[in-house]
This record gives sequence, C-alpha cells and structure tokens, in this order.
Amino acid sequence: MIFGHKKNILFLSQKIKEGNLAHSYFFEGISQIGKKKVAIELAKYLEGDHNLSFFDFTQKQECLCKICNQIDKSIFPDVEVVTVQEQKSEIGIKNIKEIERKSSLATPFPFKIFIFDESQNFSHQAISALLKTIEEPRKKSFFIFVGQNSAFLPQTILSRLQVLRFTPLSKNEIIDFLEYNNIKNYNKKIIDLSMGRPGLVFNLALDNSFKKYYNIIVRFLINFNKTPIYKRLEFIETLNKVELLNDFLDLGVIWFRDLLILKETGNYINLKSFQDTLETQMKEIDIEDIKKIINNFEEVKRTITFYNVNARLLVENLVLGL
Ligand SMILES: [Zn+2]
Repeated sequence: MIFGHKKNILFLSQKIKEGNLAHSYFFEGISQIGKKKVAIELAKYLEGDHNLSFFDFTQKQECLCKICNQIDKSIFPDVEVVTVQEQKSEIGIKNIKEIERKSSLATPFPFKIFIFDESQNFSHQAISALLKTIEEPRKKSFFIFVGQNSAFLPQTILSRLQVLRFTPLSKNEIIDFLEYNNIKNYNKKIIDLSMGRPGLVFNLALDNSFKKYYNIIVRFLINFNKTPIYKRLEFIETLNKVELLNDFLDLGVIWFRDLLILKETGNYINLKSFQDTLETQMKEIDIEDIKKIINNFEEVKRTITFYNVNARLLVENLVLGL
C-alpha cells in the first residue's frame, strides 16, 4: 500500500495501460517521502502477473505472490536496486559496466529493471558510462533513478529521462500511514515534525534513540537565539556524530519559513504545535534577518547536494551565524 503520490501513480498507471511507459524515469523529491517505495512497487507490478491497474495495485495490501516476495527480498534476478549511502561512497564505473552487461542478458521476465537509489552519489565516470546504456536501451531495460534533485545530471542524460516530481504527504496522509501500520503512539508534534515524510514519522514514532537525537534539533531551534557559541559548537558536534546534519537543515528551513509566514501574514504555518514558541521568537527577530537565515539554509542545502564538500563545516558556519 502506498500513501500519497496519487498524481504520479495515476500518471504511471495510465502510461502502462497505454503501453507507453518510457525507458527511464527520475523520481525526484526530498528524502524519506517514499520515492523508492513507488519504484519498487512499480517493479513488482511490471514483473508479476497482476490482474488490476497499477493504481489499484498500490492502493491495497501488499501483494504476496512469488515474484513480489522475491523482489521484496532482493532475490529476484531482474530487479536490481543499486544503493549507496550518502557521502560514504560512490557508485563507480565498475557497477555501471556490470549493469550494462546484465541489461544485455536474455530474460524470461517482461523487464530488466534497475533502480538507482540516492543517485546523486554517482561518480562522473559512472554517469558518462551510463549515458550509453540509457541512450540505446535494450528492449526490456527499464531504469528508475531516485534522488533529491535531478539537476546534478548532465543535460545529455537528463534529456533521456522523464522526471517525476514527488512531494511530501499531507498531514492526513501521514496519519493514514501511521494508522495503517498500527502505530498508535503519535501526537500532533510528531506529525508536524515529520514534514510529510513517512520515513521520518516512522522513526520518530518507533525509534527512541532517533527521537532523542531529533529532539536535540528541536530544542536547539526553540532556543537558538539564546544559545551561546560553545553550546552551538557542541550541538554541531553531536549532529555530525549521529549523522543528522541534513535533518537539521530540513527542519530549520521549515522552522524559519514558519517564522516568516507568521511575521508577514499571521496565517497557516506547518509547525502548528509550536505556534506559541514561534510567536515569541517572531517578536525577537527582525524580518530581514529571518529572510537572510532562510537563504543561508537553502544555500547550504544546495551546496551539500551538488558538491562534494565538508557538510559539517558549512553547517557550523550557518549555526554560528544565527
Ligand atoms: Zn505480486
């Protein structure tokens, strides 16, 4: 069962019905909203014998047929998820050569599907090598790139991909997701802090150690303008250790945007359950400063996404300048 992303799922469902599916897609959007999940479900649907539309396939309980089961266990021969963890390693040219070789092999199944997760971690050589595979796709090859932003790819590759933009889930969709998974211990704060990301709300509701560290971010944002320099440095040190620098950037942008919205219109904000705190902060900070802070957050996020830079140093400068 997939929550949210109805527009994209309907689009793909329609393309399949028309026999008009492209050879390559880029599923683009912020992390932890379920892009890879849609890719996997699409792979299951295409490889198996499912007697309903792709849209209907995604709106019911997980299929337990043999092929779906094997894809879930990553043992199905013609669906491969190529994954690397952010900033830890890159997908190298060797992997691409191997993919090229595999995509040329015969198969009794309808497709040979390759899902490239966190595809911003491809090396430049790997991307160049991939171009040939994408340019002249074998009949059964089907490629899905999954990543936060497709703009890192050269135009030569991008022009051969169809980019589908994925957006965060609504609060109601997040609640449906939690209820469906029988997760009861959530509250308004958790829903707000999840920013429409099922992956994040799952961790916040079920992973106590993650929740503990995430709360450090929340506490920092609540007190940021009263936090002395040495405490700010400690904060960054902790975030870096537990690999939550990106989570801080994501929540920070939402936090300061809410401050700006409150200041300018007083209207609807994302983090409703923090309204009192935000209203107090709003009176203490100048509107131009809030705009500058948002720009700085976005600049740091962009730089980290597109360049191989020391994220810690950038975030540290950002936090010292708040
Ligand atoms: Zn199935």
